[in-house]
Amino acid sequence: MEIVNSIKETRKHIKNIKSKGKTVALVPTMGYLHEGHLSLVKRAKEENDYVVVSIFVNPTQFGPNEDLETYPRDLERDSKLLEKLGVDLIFHPEVEEIYPKGYNTHVEVLGDITKKLCGRSREGHFKGVVTIVSKLFNIVSPHRAYFGQKDAQQVAVIEKMVRELNFDLEIVPCPIVREEDGLALSSRNIYLDKEERKDATILSQSLFKAEEMIRNGERNPKVIEDFIINNIKTVNYAEVDYVDIVNGSTLEDVDEISGDILIALAVKIGKPRLIDNIRLEV
Ligand code: AMP
Repeated sequence: MEIVNSIKETRKHIKNIKSKGKTVALVPTMGYLHEGHLSLVKRAKEENDYVVVSIFVNPTQFGPNEDLETYPRDLERDSKLLEKLGVDLIFHPEVEEIYPKGYNTHVEVLGDITKKLCGRSREGHFKGVVTIVSKLFNIVSPHRAYFGQKDAQQVAVIEKMVRELNFDLEIVPCPIVREEDGLALSSRNIYLDKEERKDATILSQSLFKAEEMIRNGERNPKVIEDFIINNIKTVNYAEVDYVDIVNGSTLEDVDEISGDILIALAVKIGKPRLIDNIRLEV
């Protein structure tokens, strides 16, 4: 497994691999890997000849009061995990390699799709995400790129960007990996203390109960949203950012629960702001 910091060297490896007619996969991450990330890597391994994992804590997707400085990092541990899975190349650039002095080009998906849900409280976040993902696509030129449904809005925004900018690759969305008690795995879960960790299970529990209510016939999004908000408020450390029910691919608001439905939420539990969602066909 190669660990490469430079764009030039990464391109050299990819060019060589592609000249042999092999397929290339990209799994973009910010590192501090857990089983959620690894599930994307495993899927990429199954479906492609050569797997690149990028590890880059992208400063442009963090707001001024967010956790850029303290975001957990452990390249040594990450490399060991990825080597075990048979990853071919880790692309681990310095910030200056990606955003050299004077850098001033950004990619932005406009409209409601980036303004609602997480876009409401994280201004500029998706502009940063779409810019880094476009750059990674241009650097690695993968046949397929793997993203977790955990970040459902991110997947929808990237799919739109790929369609509208004619990127010649396939986006592969992968299911959410959860702890046994339902908590969606996240690098930010390490910020939770013991009590908050217990409280955090309220997120997935509320989503699963909402799903049950919908399966039992409830079709009013407001009723489900209110149920989730009130349920989350029963724990000590929760502060709801949003709970929204939208169309699963366009993220447009829905008047009635039917078809492709995404129930998404963001909640601050103690220090970290956690996100979770479920997508249903009703
Ligand atoms: P991050 O390092 O948080 O930027 O995540 C890198 C990729 O892993 C993104 O596509 C995430 O959606 C995905 N991911 C993070 N957590 C999970 C999870 N619990 N299950 C599935 N995918 C995940």
